[in-house]
Amino acid sequence: MSAKLIRGTEIRDEILKEIKGEVDRIKEEHGVVPGLVTILVGENPASVSYVTSKIRTAQSLGYKEVQDSQPEDIKEEDLLSLIDKYNKDDSIHGILVQLPLPKQIDEKKVLNTIDPDKDVDGFHPVNVGRLMIGGGEVKFPPCTPAGIQELIVRSGVETEGAEVVVVGRSNIVGKPIANILLQKAPGANATVTVAHTRTKDLAYHCKRADILVVAAGVPGLVKPEWIKPGACVIDVGVNRVGEKISEKTGKKIAILKGDVDFDKAKEIAGYITPVPGGVGPMTITMLMKNTLNSLKFHLGIA
Ligand code: NAD
Repeated sequence: MSAKLIRGTEIRDEILKEIKGEVDRIKEEHGVVPGLVTILVGENPASVSYVTSKIRTAQSLGYKEVQDSQPEDIKEEDLLSLIDKYNKDDSIHGILVQLPLPKQIDEKKVLNTIDPDKDVDGFHPVNVGRLMIGGGEVKFPPCTPAGIQELIVRSGVETEGAEVVVVGRSNIVGKPIANILLQKAPGANATVTVAHTRTKDLAYHCKRADILVVAAGVPGLVKPEWIKPGACVIDVGVNRVGEKISEKTGKKIAILKGDVDFDKAKEIAGYITPVPGGVGPMTITMLMKNTLNSLKFHLGIA
């Protein structure tokens, strides 16, 4: 059997089109557009490239996009006052501080300073709590896990009553996706197990999974024989395993592999995400959706 490929790029395009339609309608009816500020401290090349993609996507959707670049040696108190300025700015509905931050800055303090009602990354403790409570409380689910749920649901995979096994318990992926899929809600209602480095028999748990979400950051961790025939496999892992010359640009690019041996796993799974091109494109997409939702909450039309 050969699995159905879950193409993140196609699902991303579908969602961005829906967002653009809503942005145009809200602009016409209310005369406002979503406002997103991205605060970038220093010039970490990976962060610069990620922020550039965010800006490009926001602009293509007609958002008000503010890029606020700050020097590497910015004082913590100055960064906190900057965030406070955007907390008070009514034209800004989403504030994103690109991580990692330089050593002199306490990341936790920074994230806790963002107004929870503008925290479109969903990392503020208030939003983590809202996600845990579920239902109408949820405002901003973290972007990568929210994107994973979209991939599963839009591919027509049944979550209700499904055995979900999540490998990884990070605050960014593992814990929130487990939380999302166990909620009493459409596109959820699953029975969820979270496995991690101290799990005794990882193979046993993976073999039970109707939906297997792997977010460990270990290339090839999940063996093909651990996959239940017909299961939906979501490979979140992005691991640089070497370099190659790009056929398009002639420049050196990283060779990326997931946490699952894709070539063998696709012969057993029913659905599978590729790496790259699976989960990756969903993160920025869901950031745009959270920012749009923030505007809708603000207007009282959510
Ligand atoms: P993390 O390092 O914070 O967490 C990894 C988790 O995996 C830990 O909880 C750990 O317990 C578990 N783990 C590690 N090795 C294991 C093993 N051998 N057996 C069982 N469990 C094990 O990582 P993260 O931030 O959650 O990211 C995980 C992966 O997903 C990384 O490859 C990262 O690059 C990728 N990622 C991709 C996206 C995206 O595509 N948009 C977003 C976030 C993370």
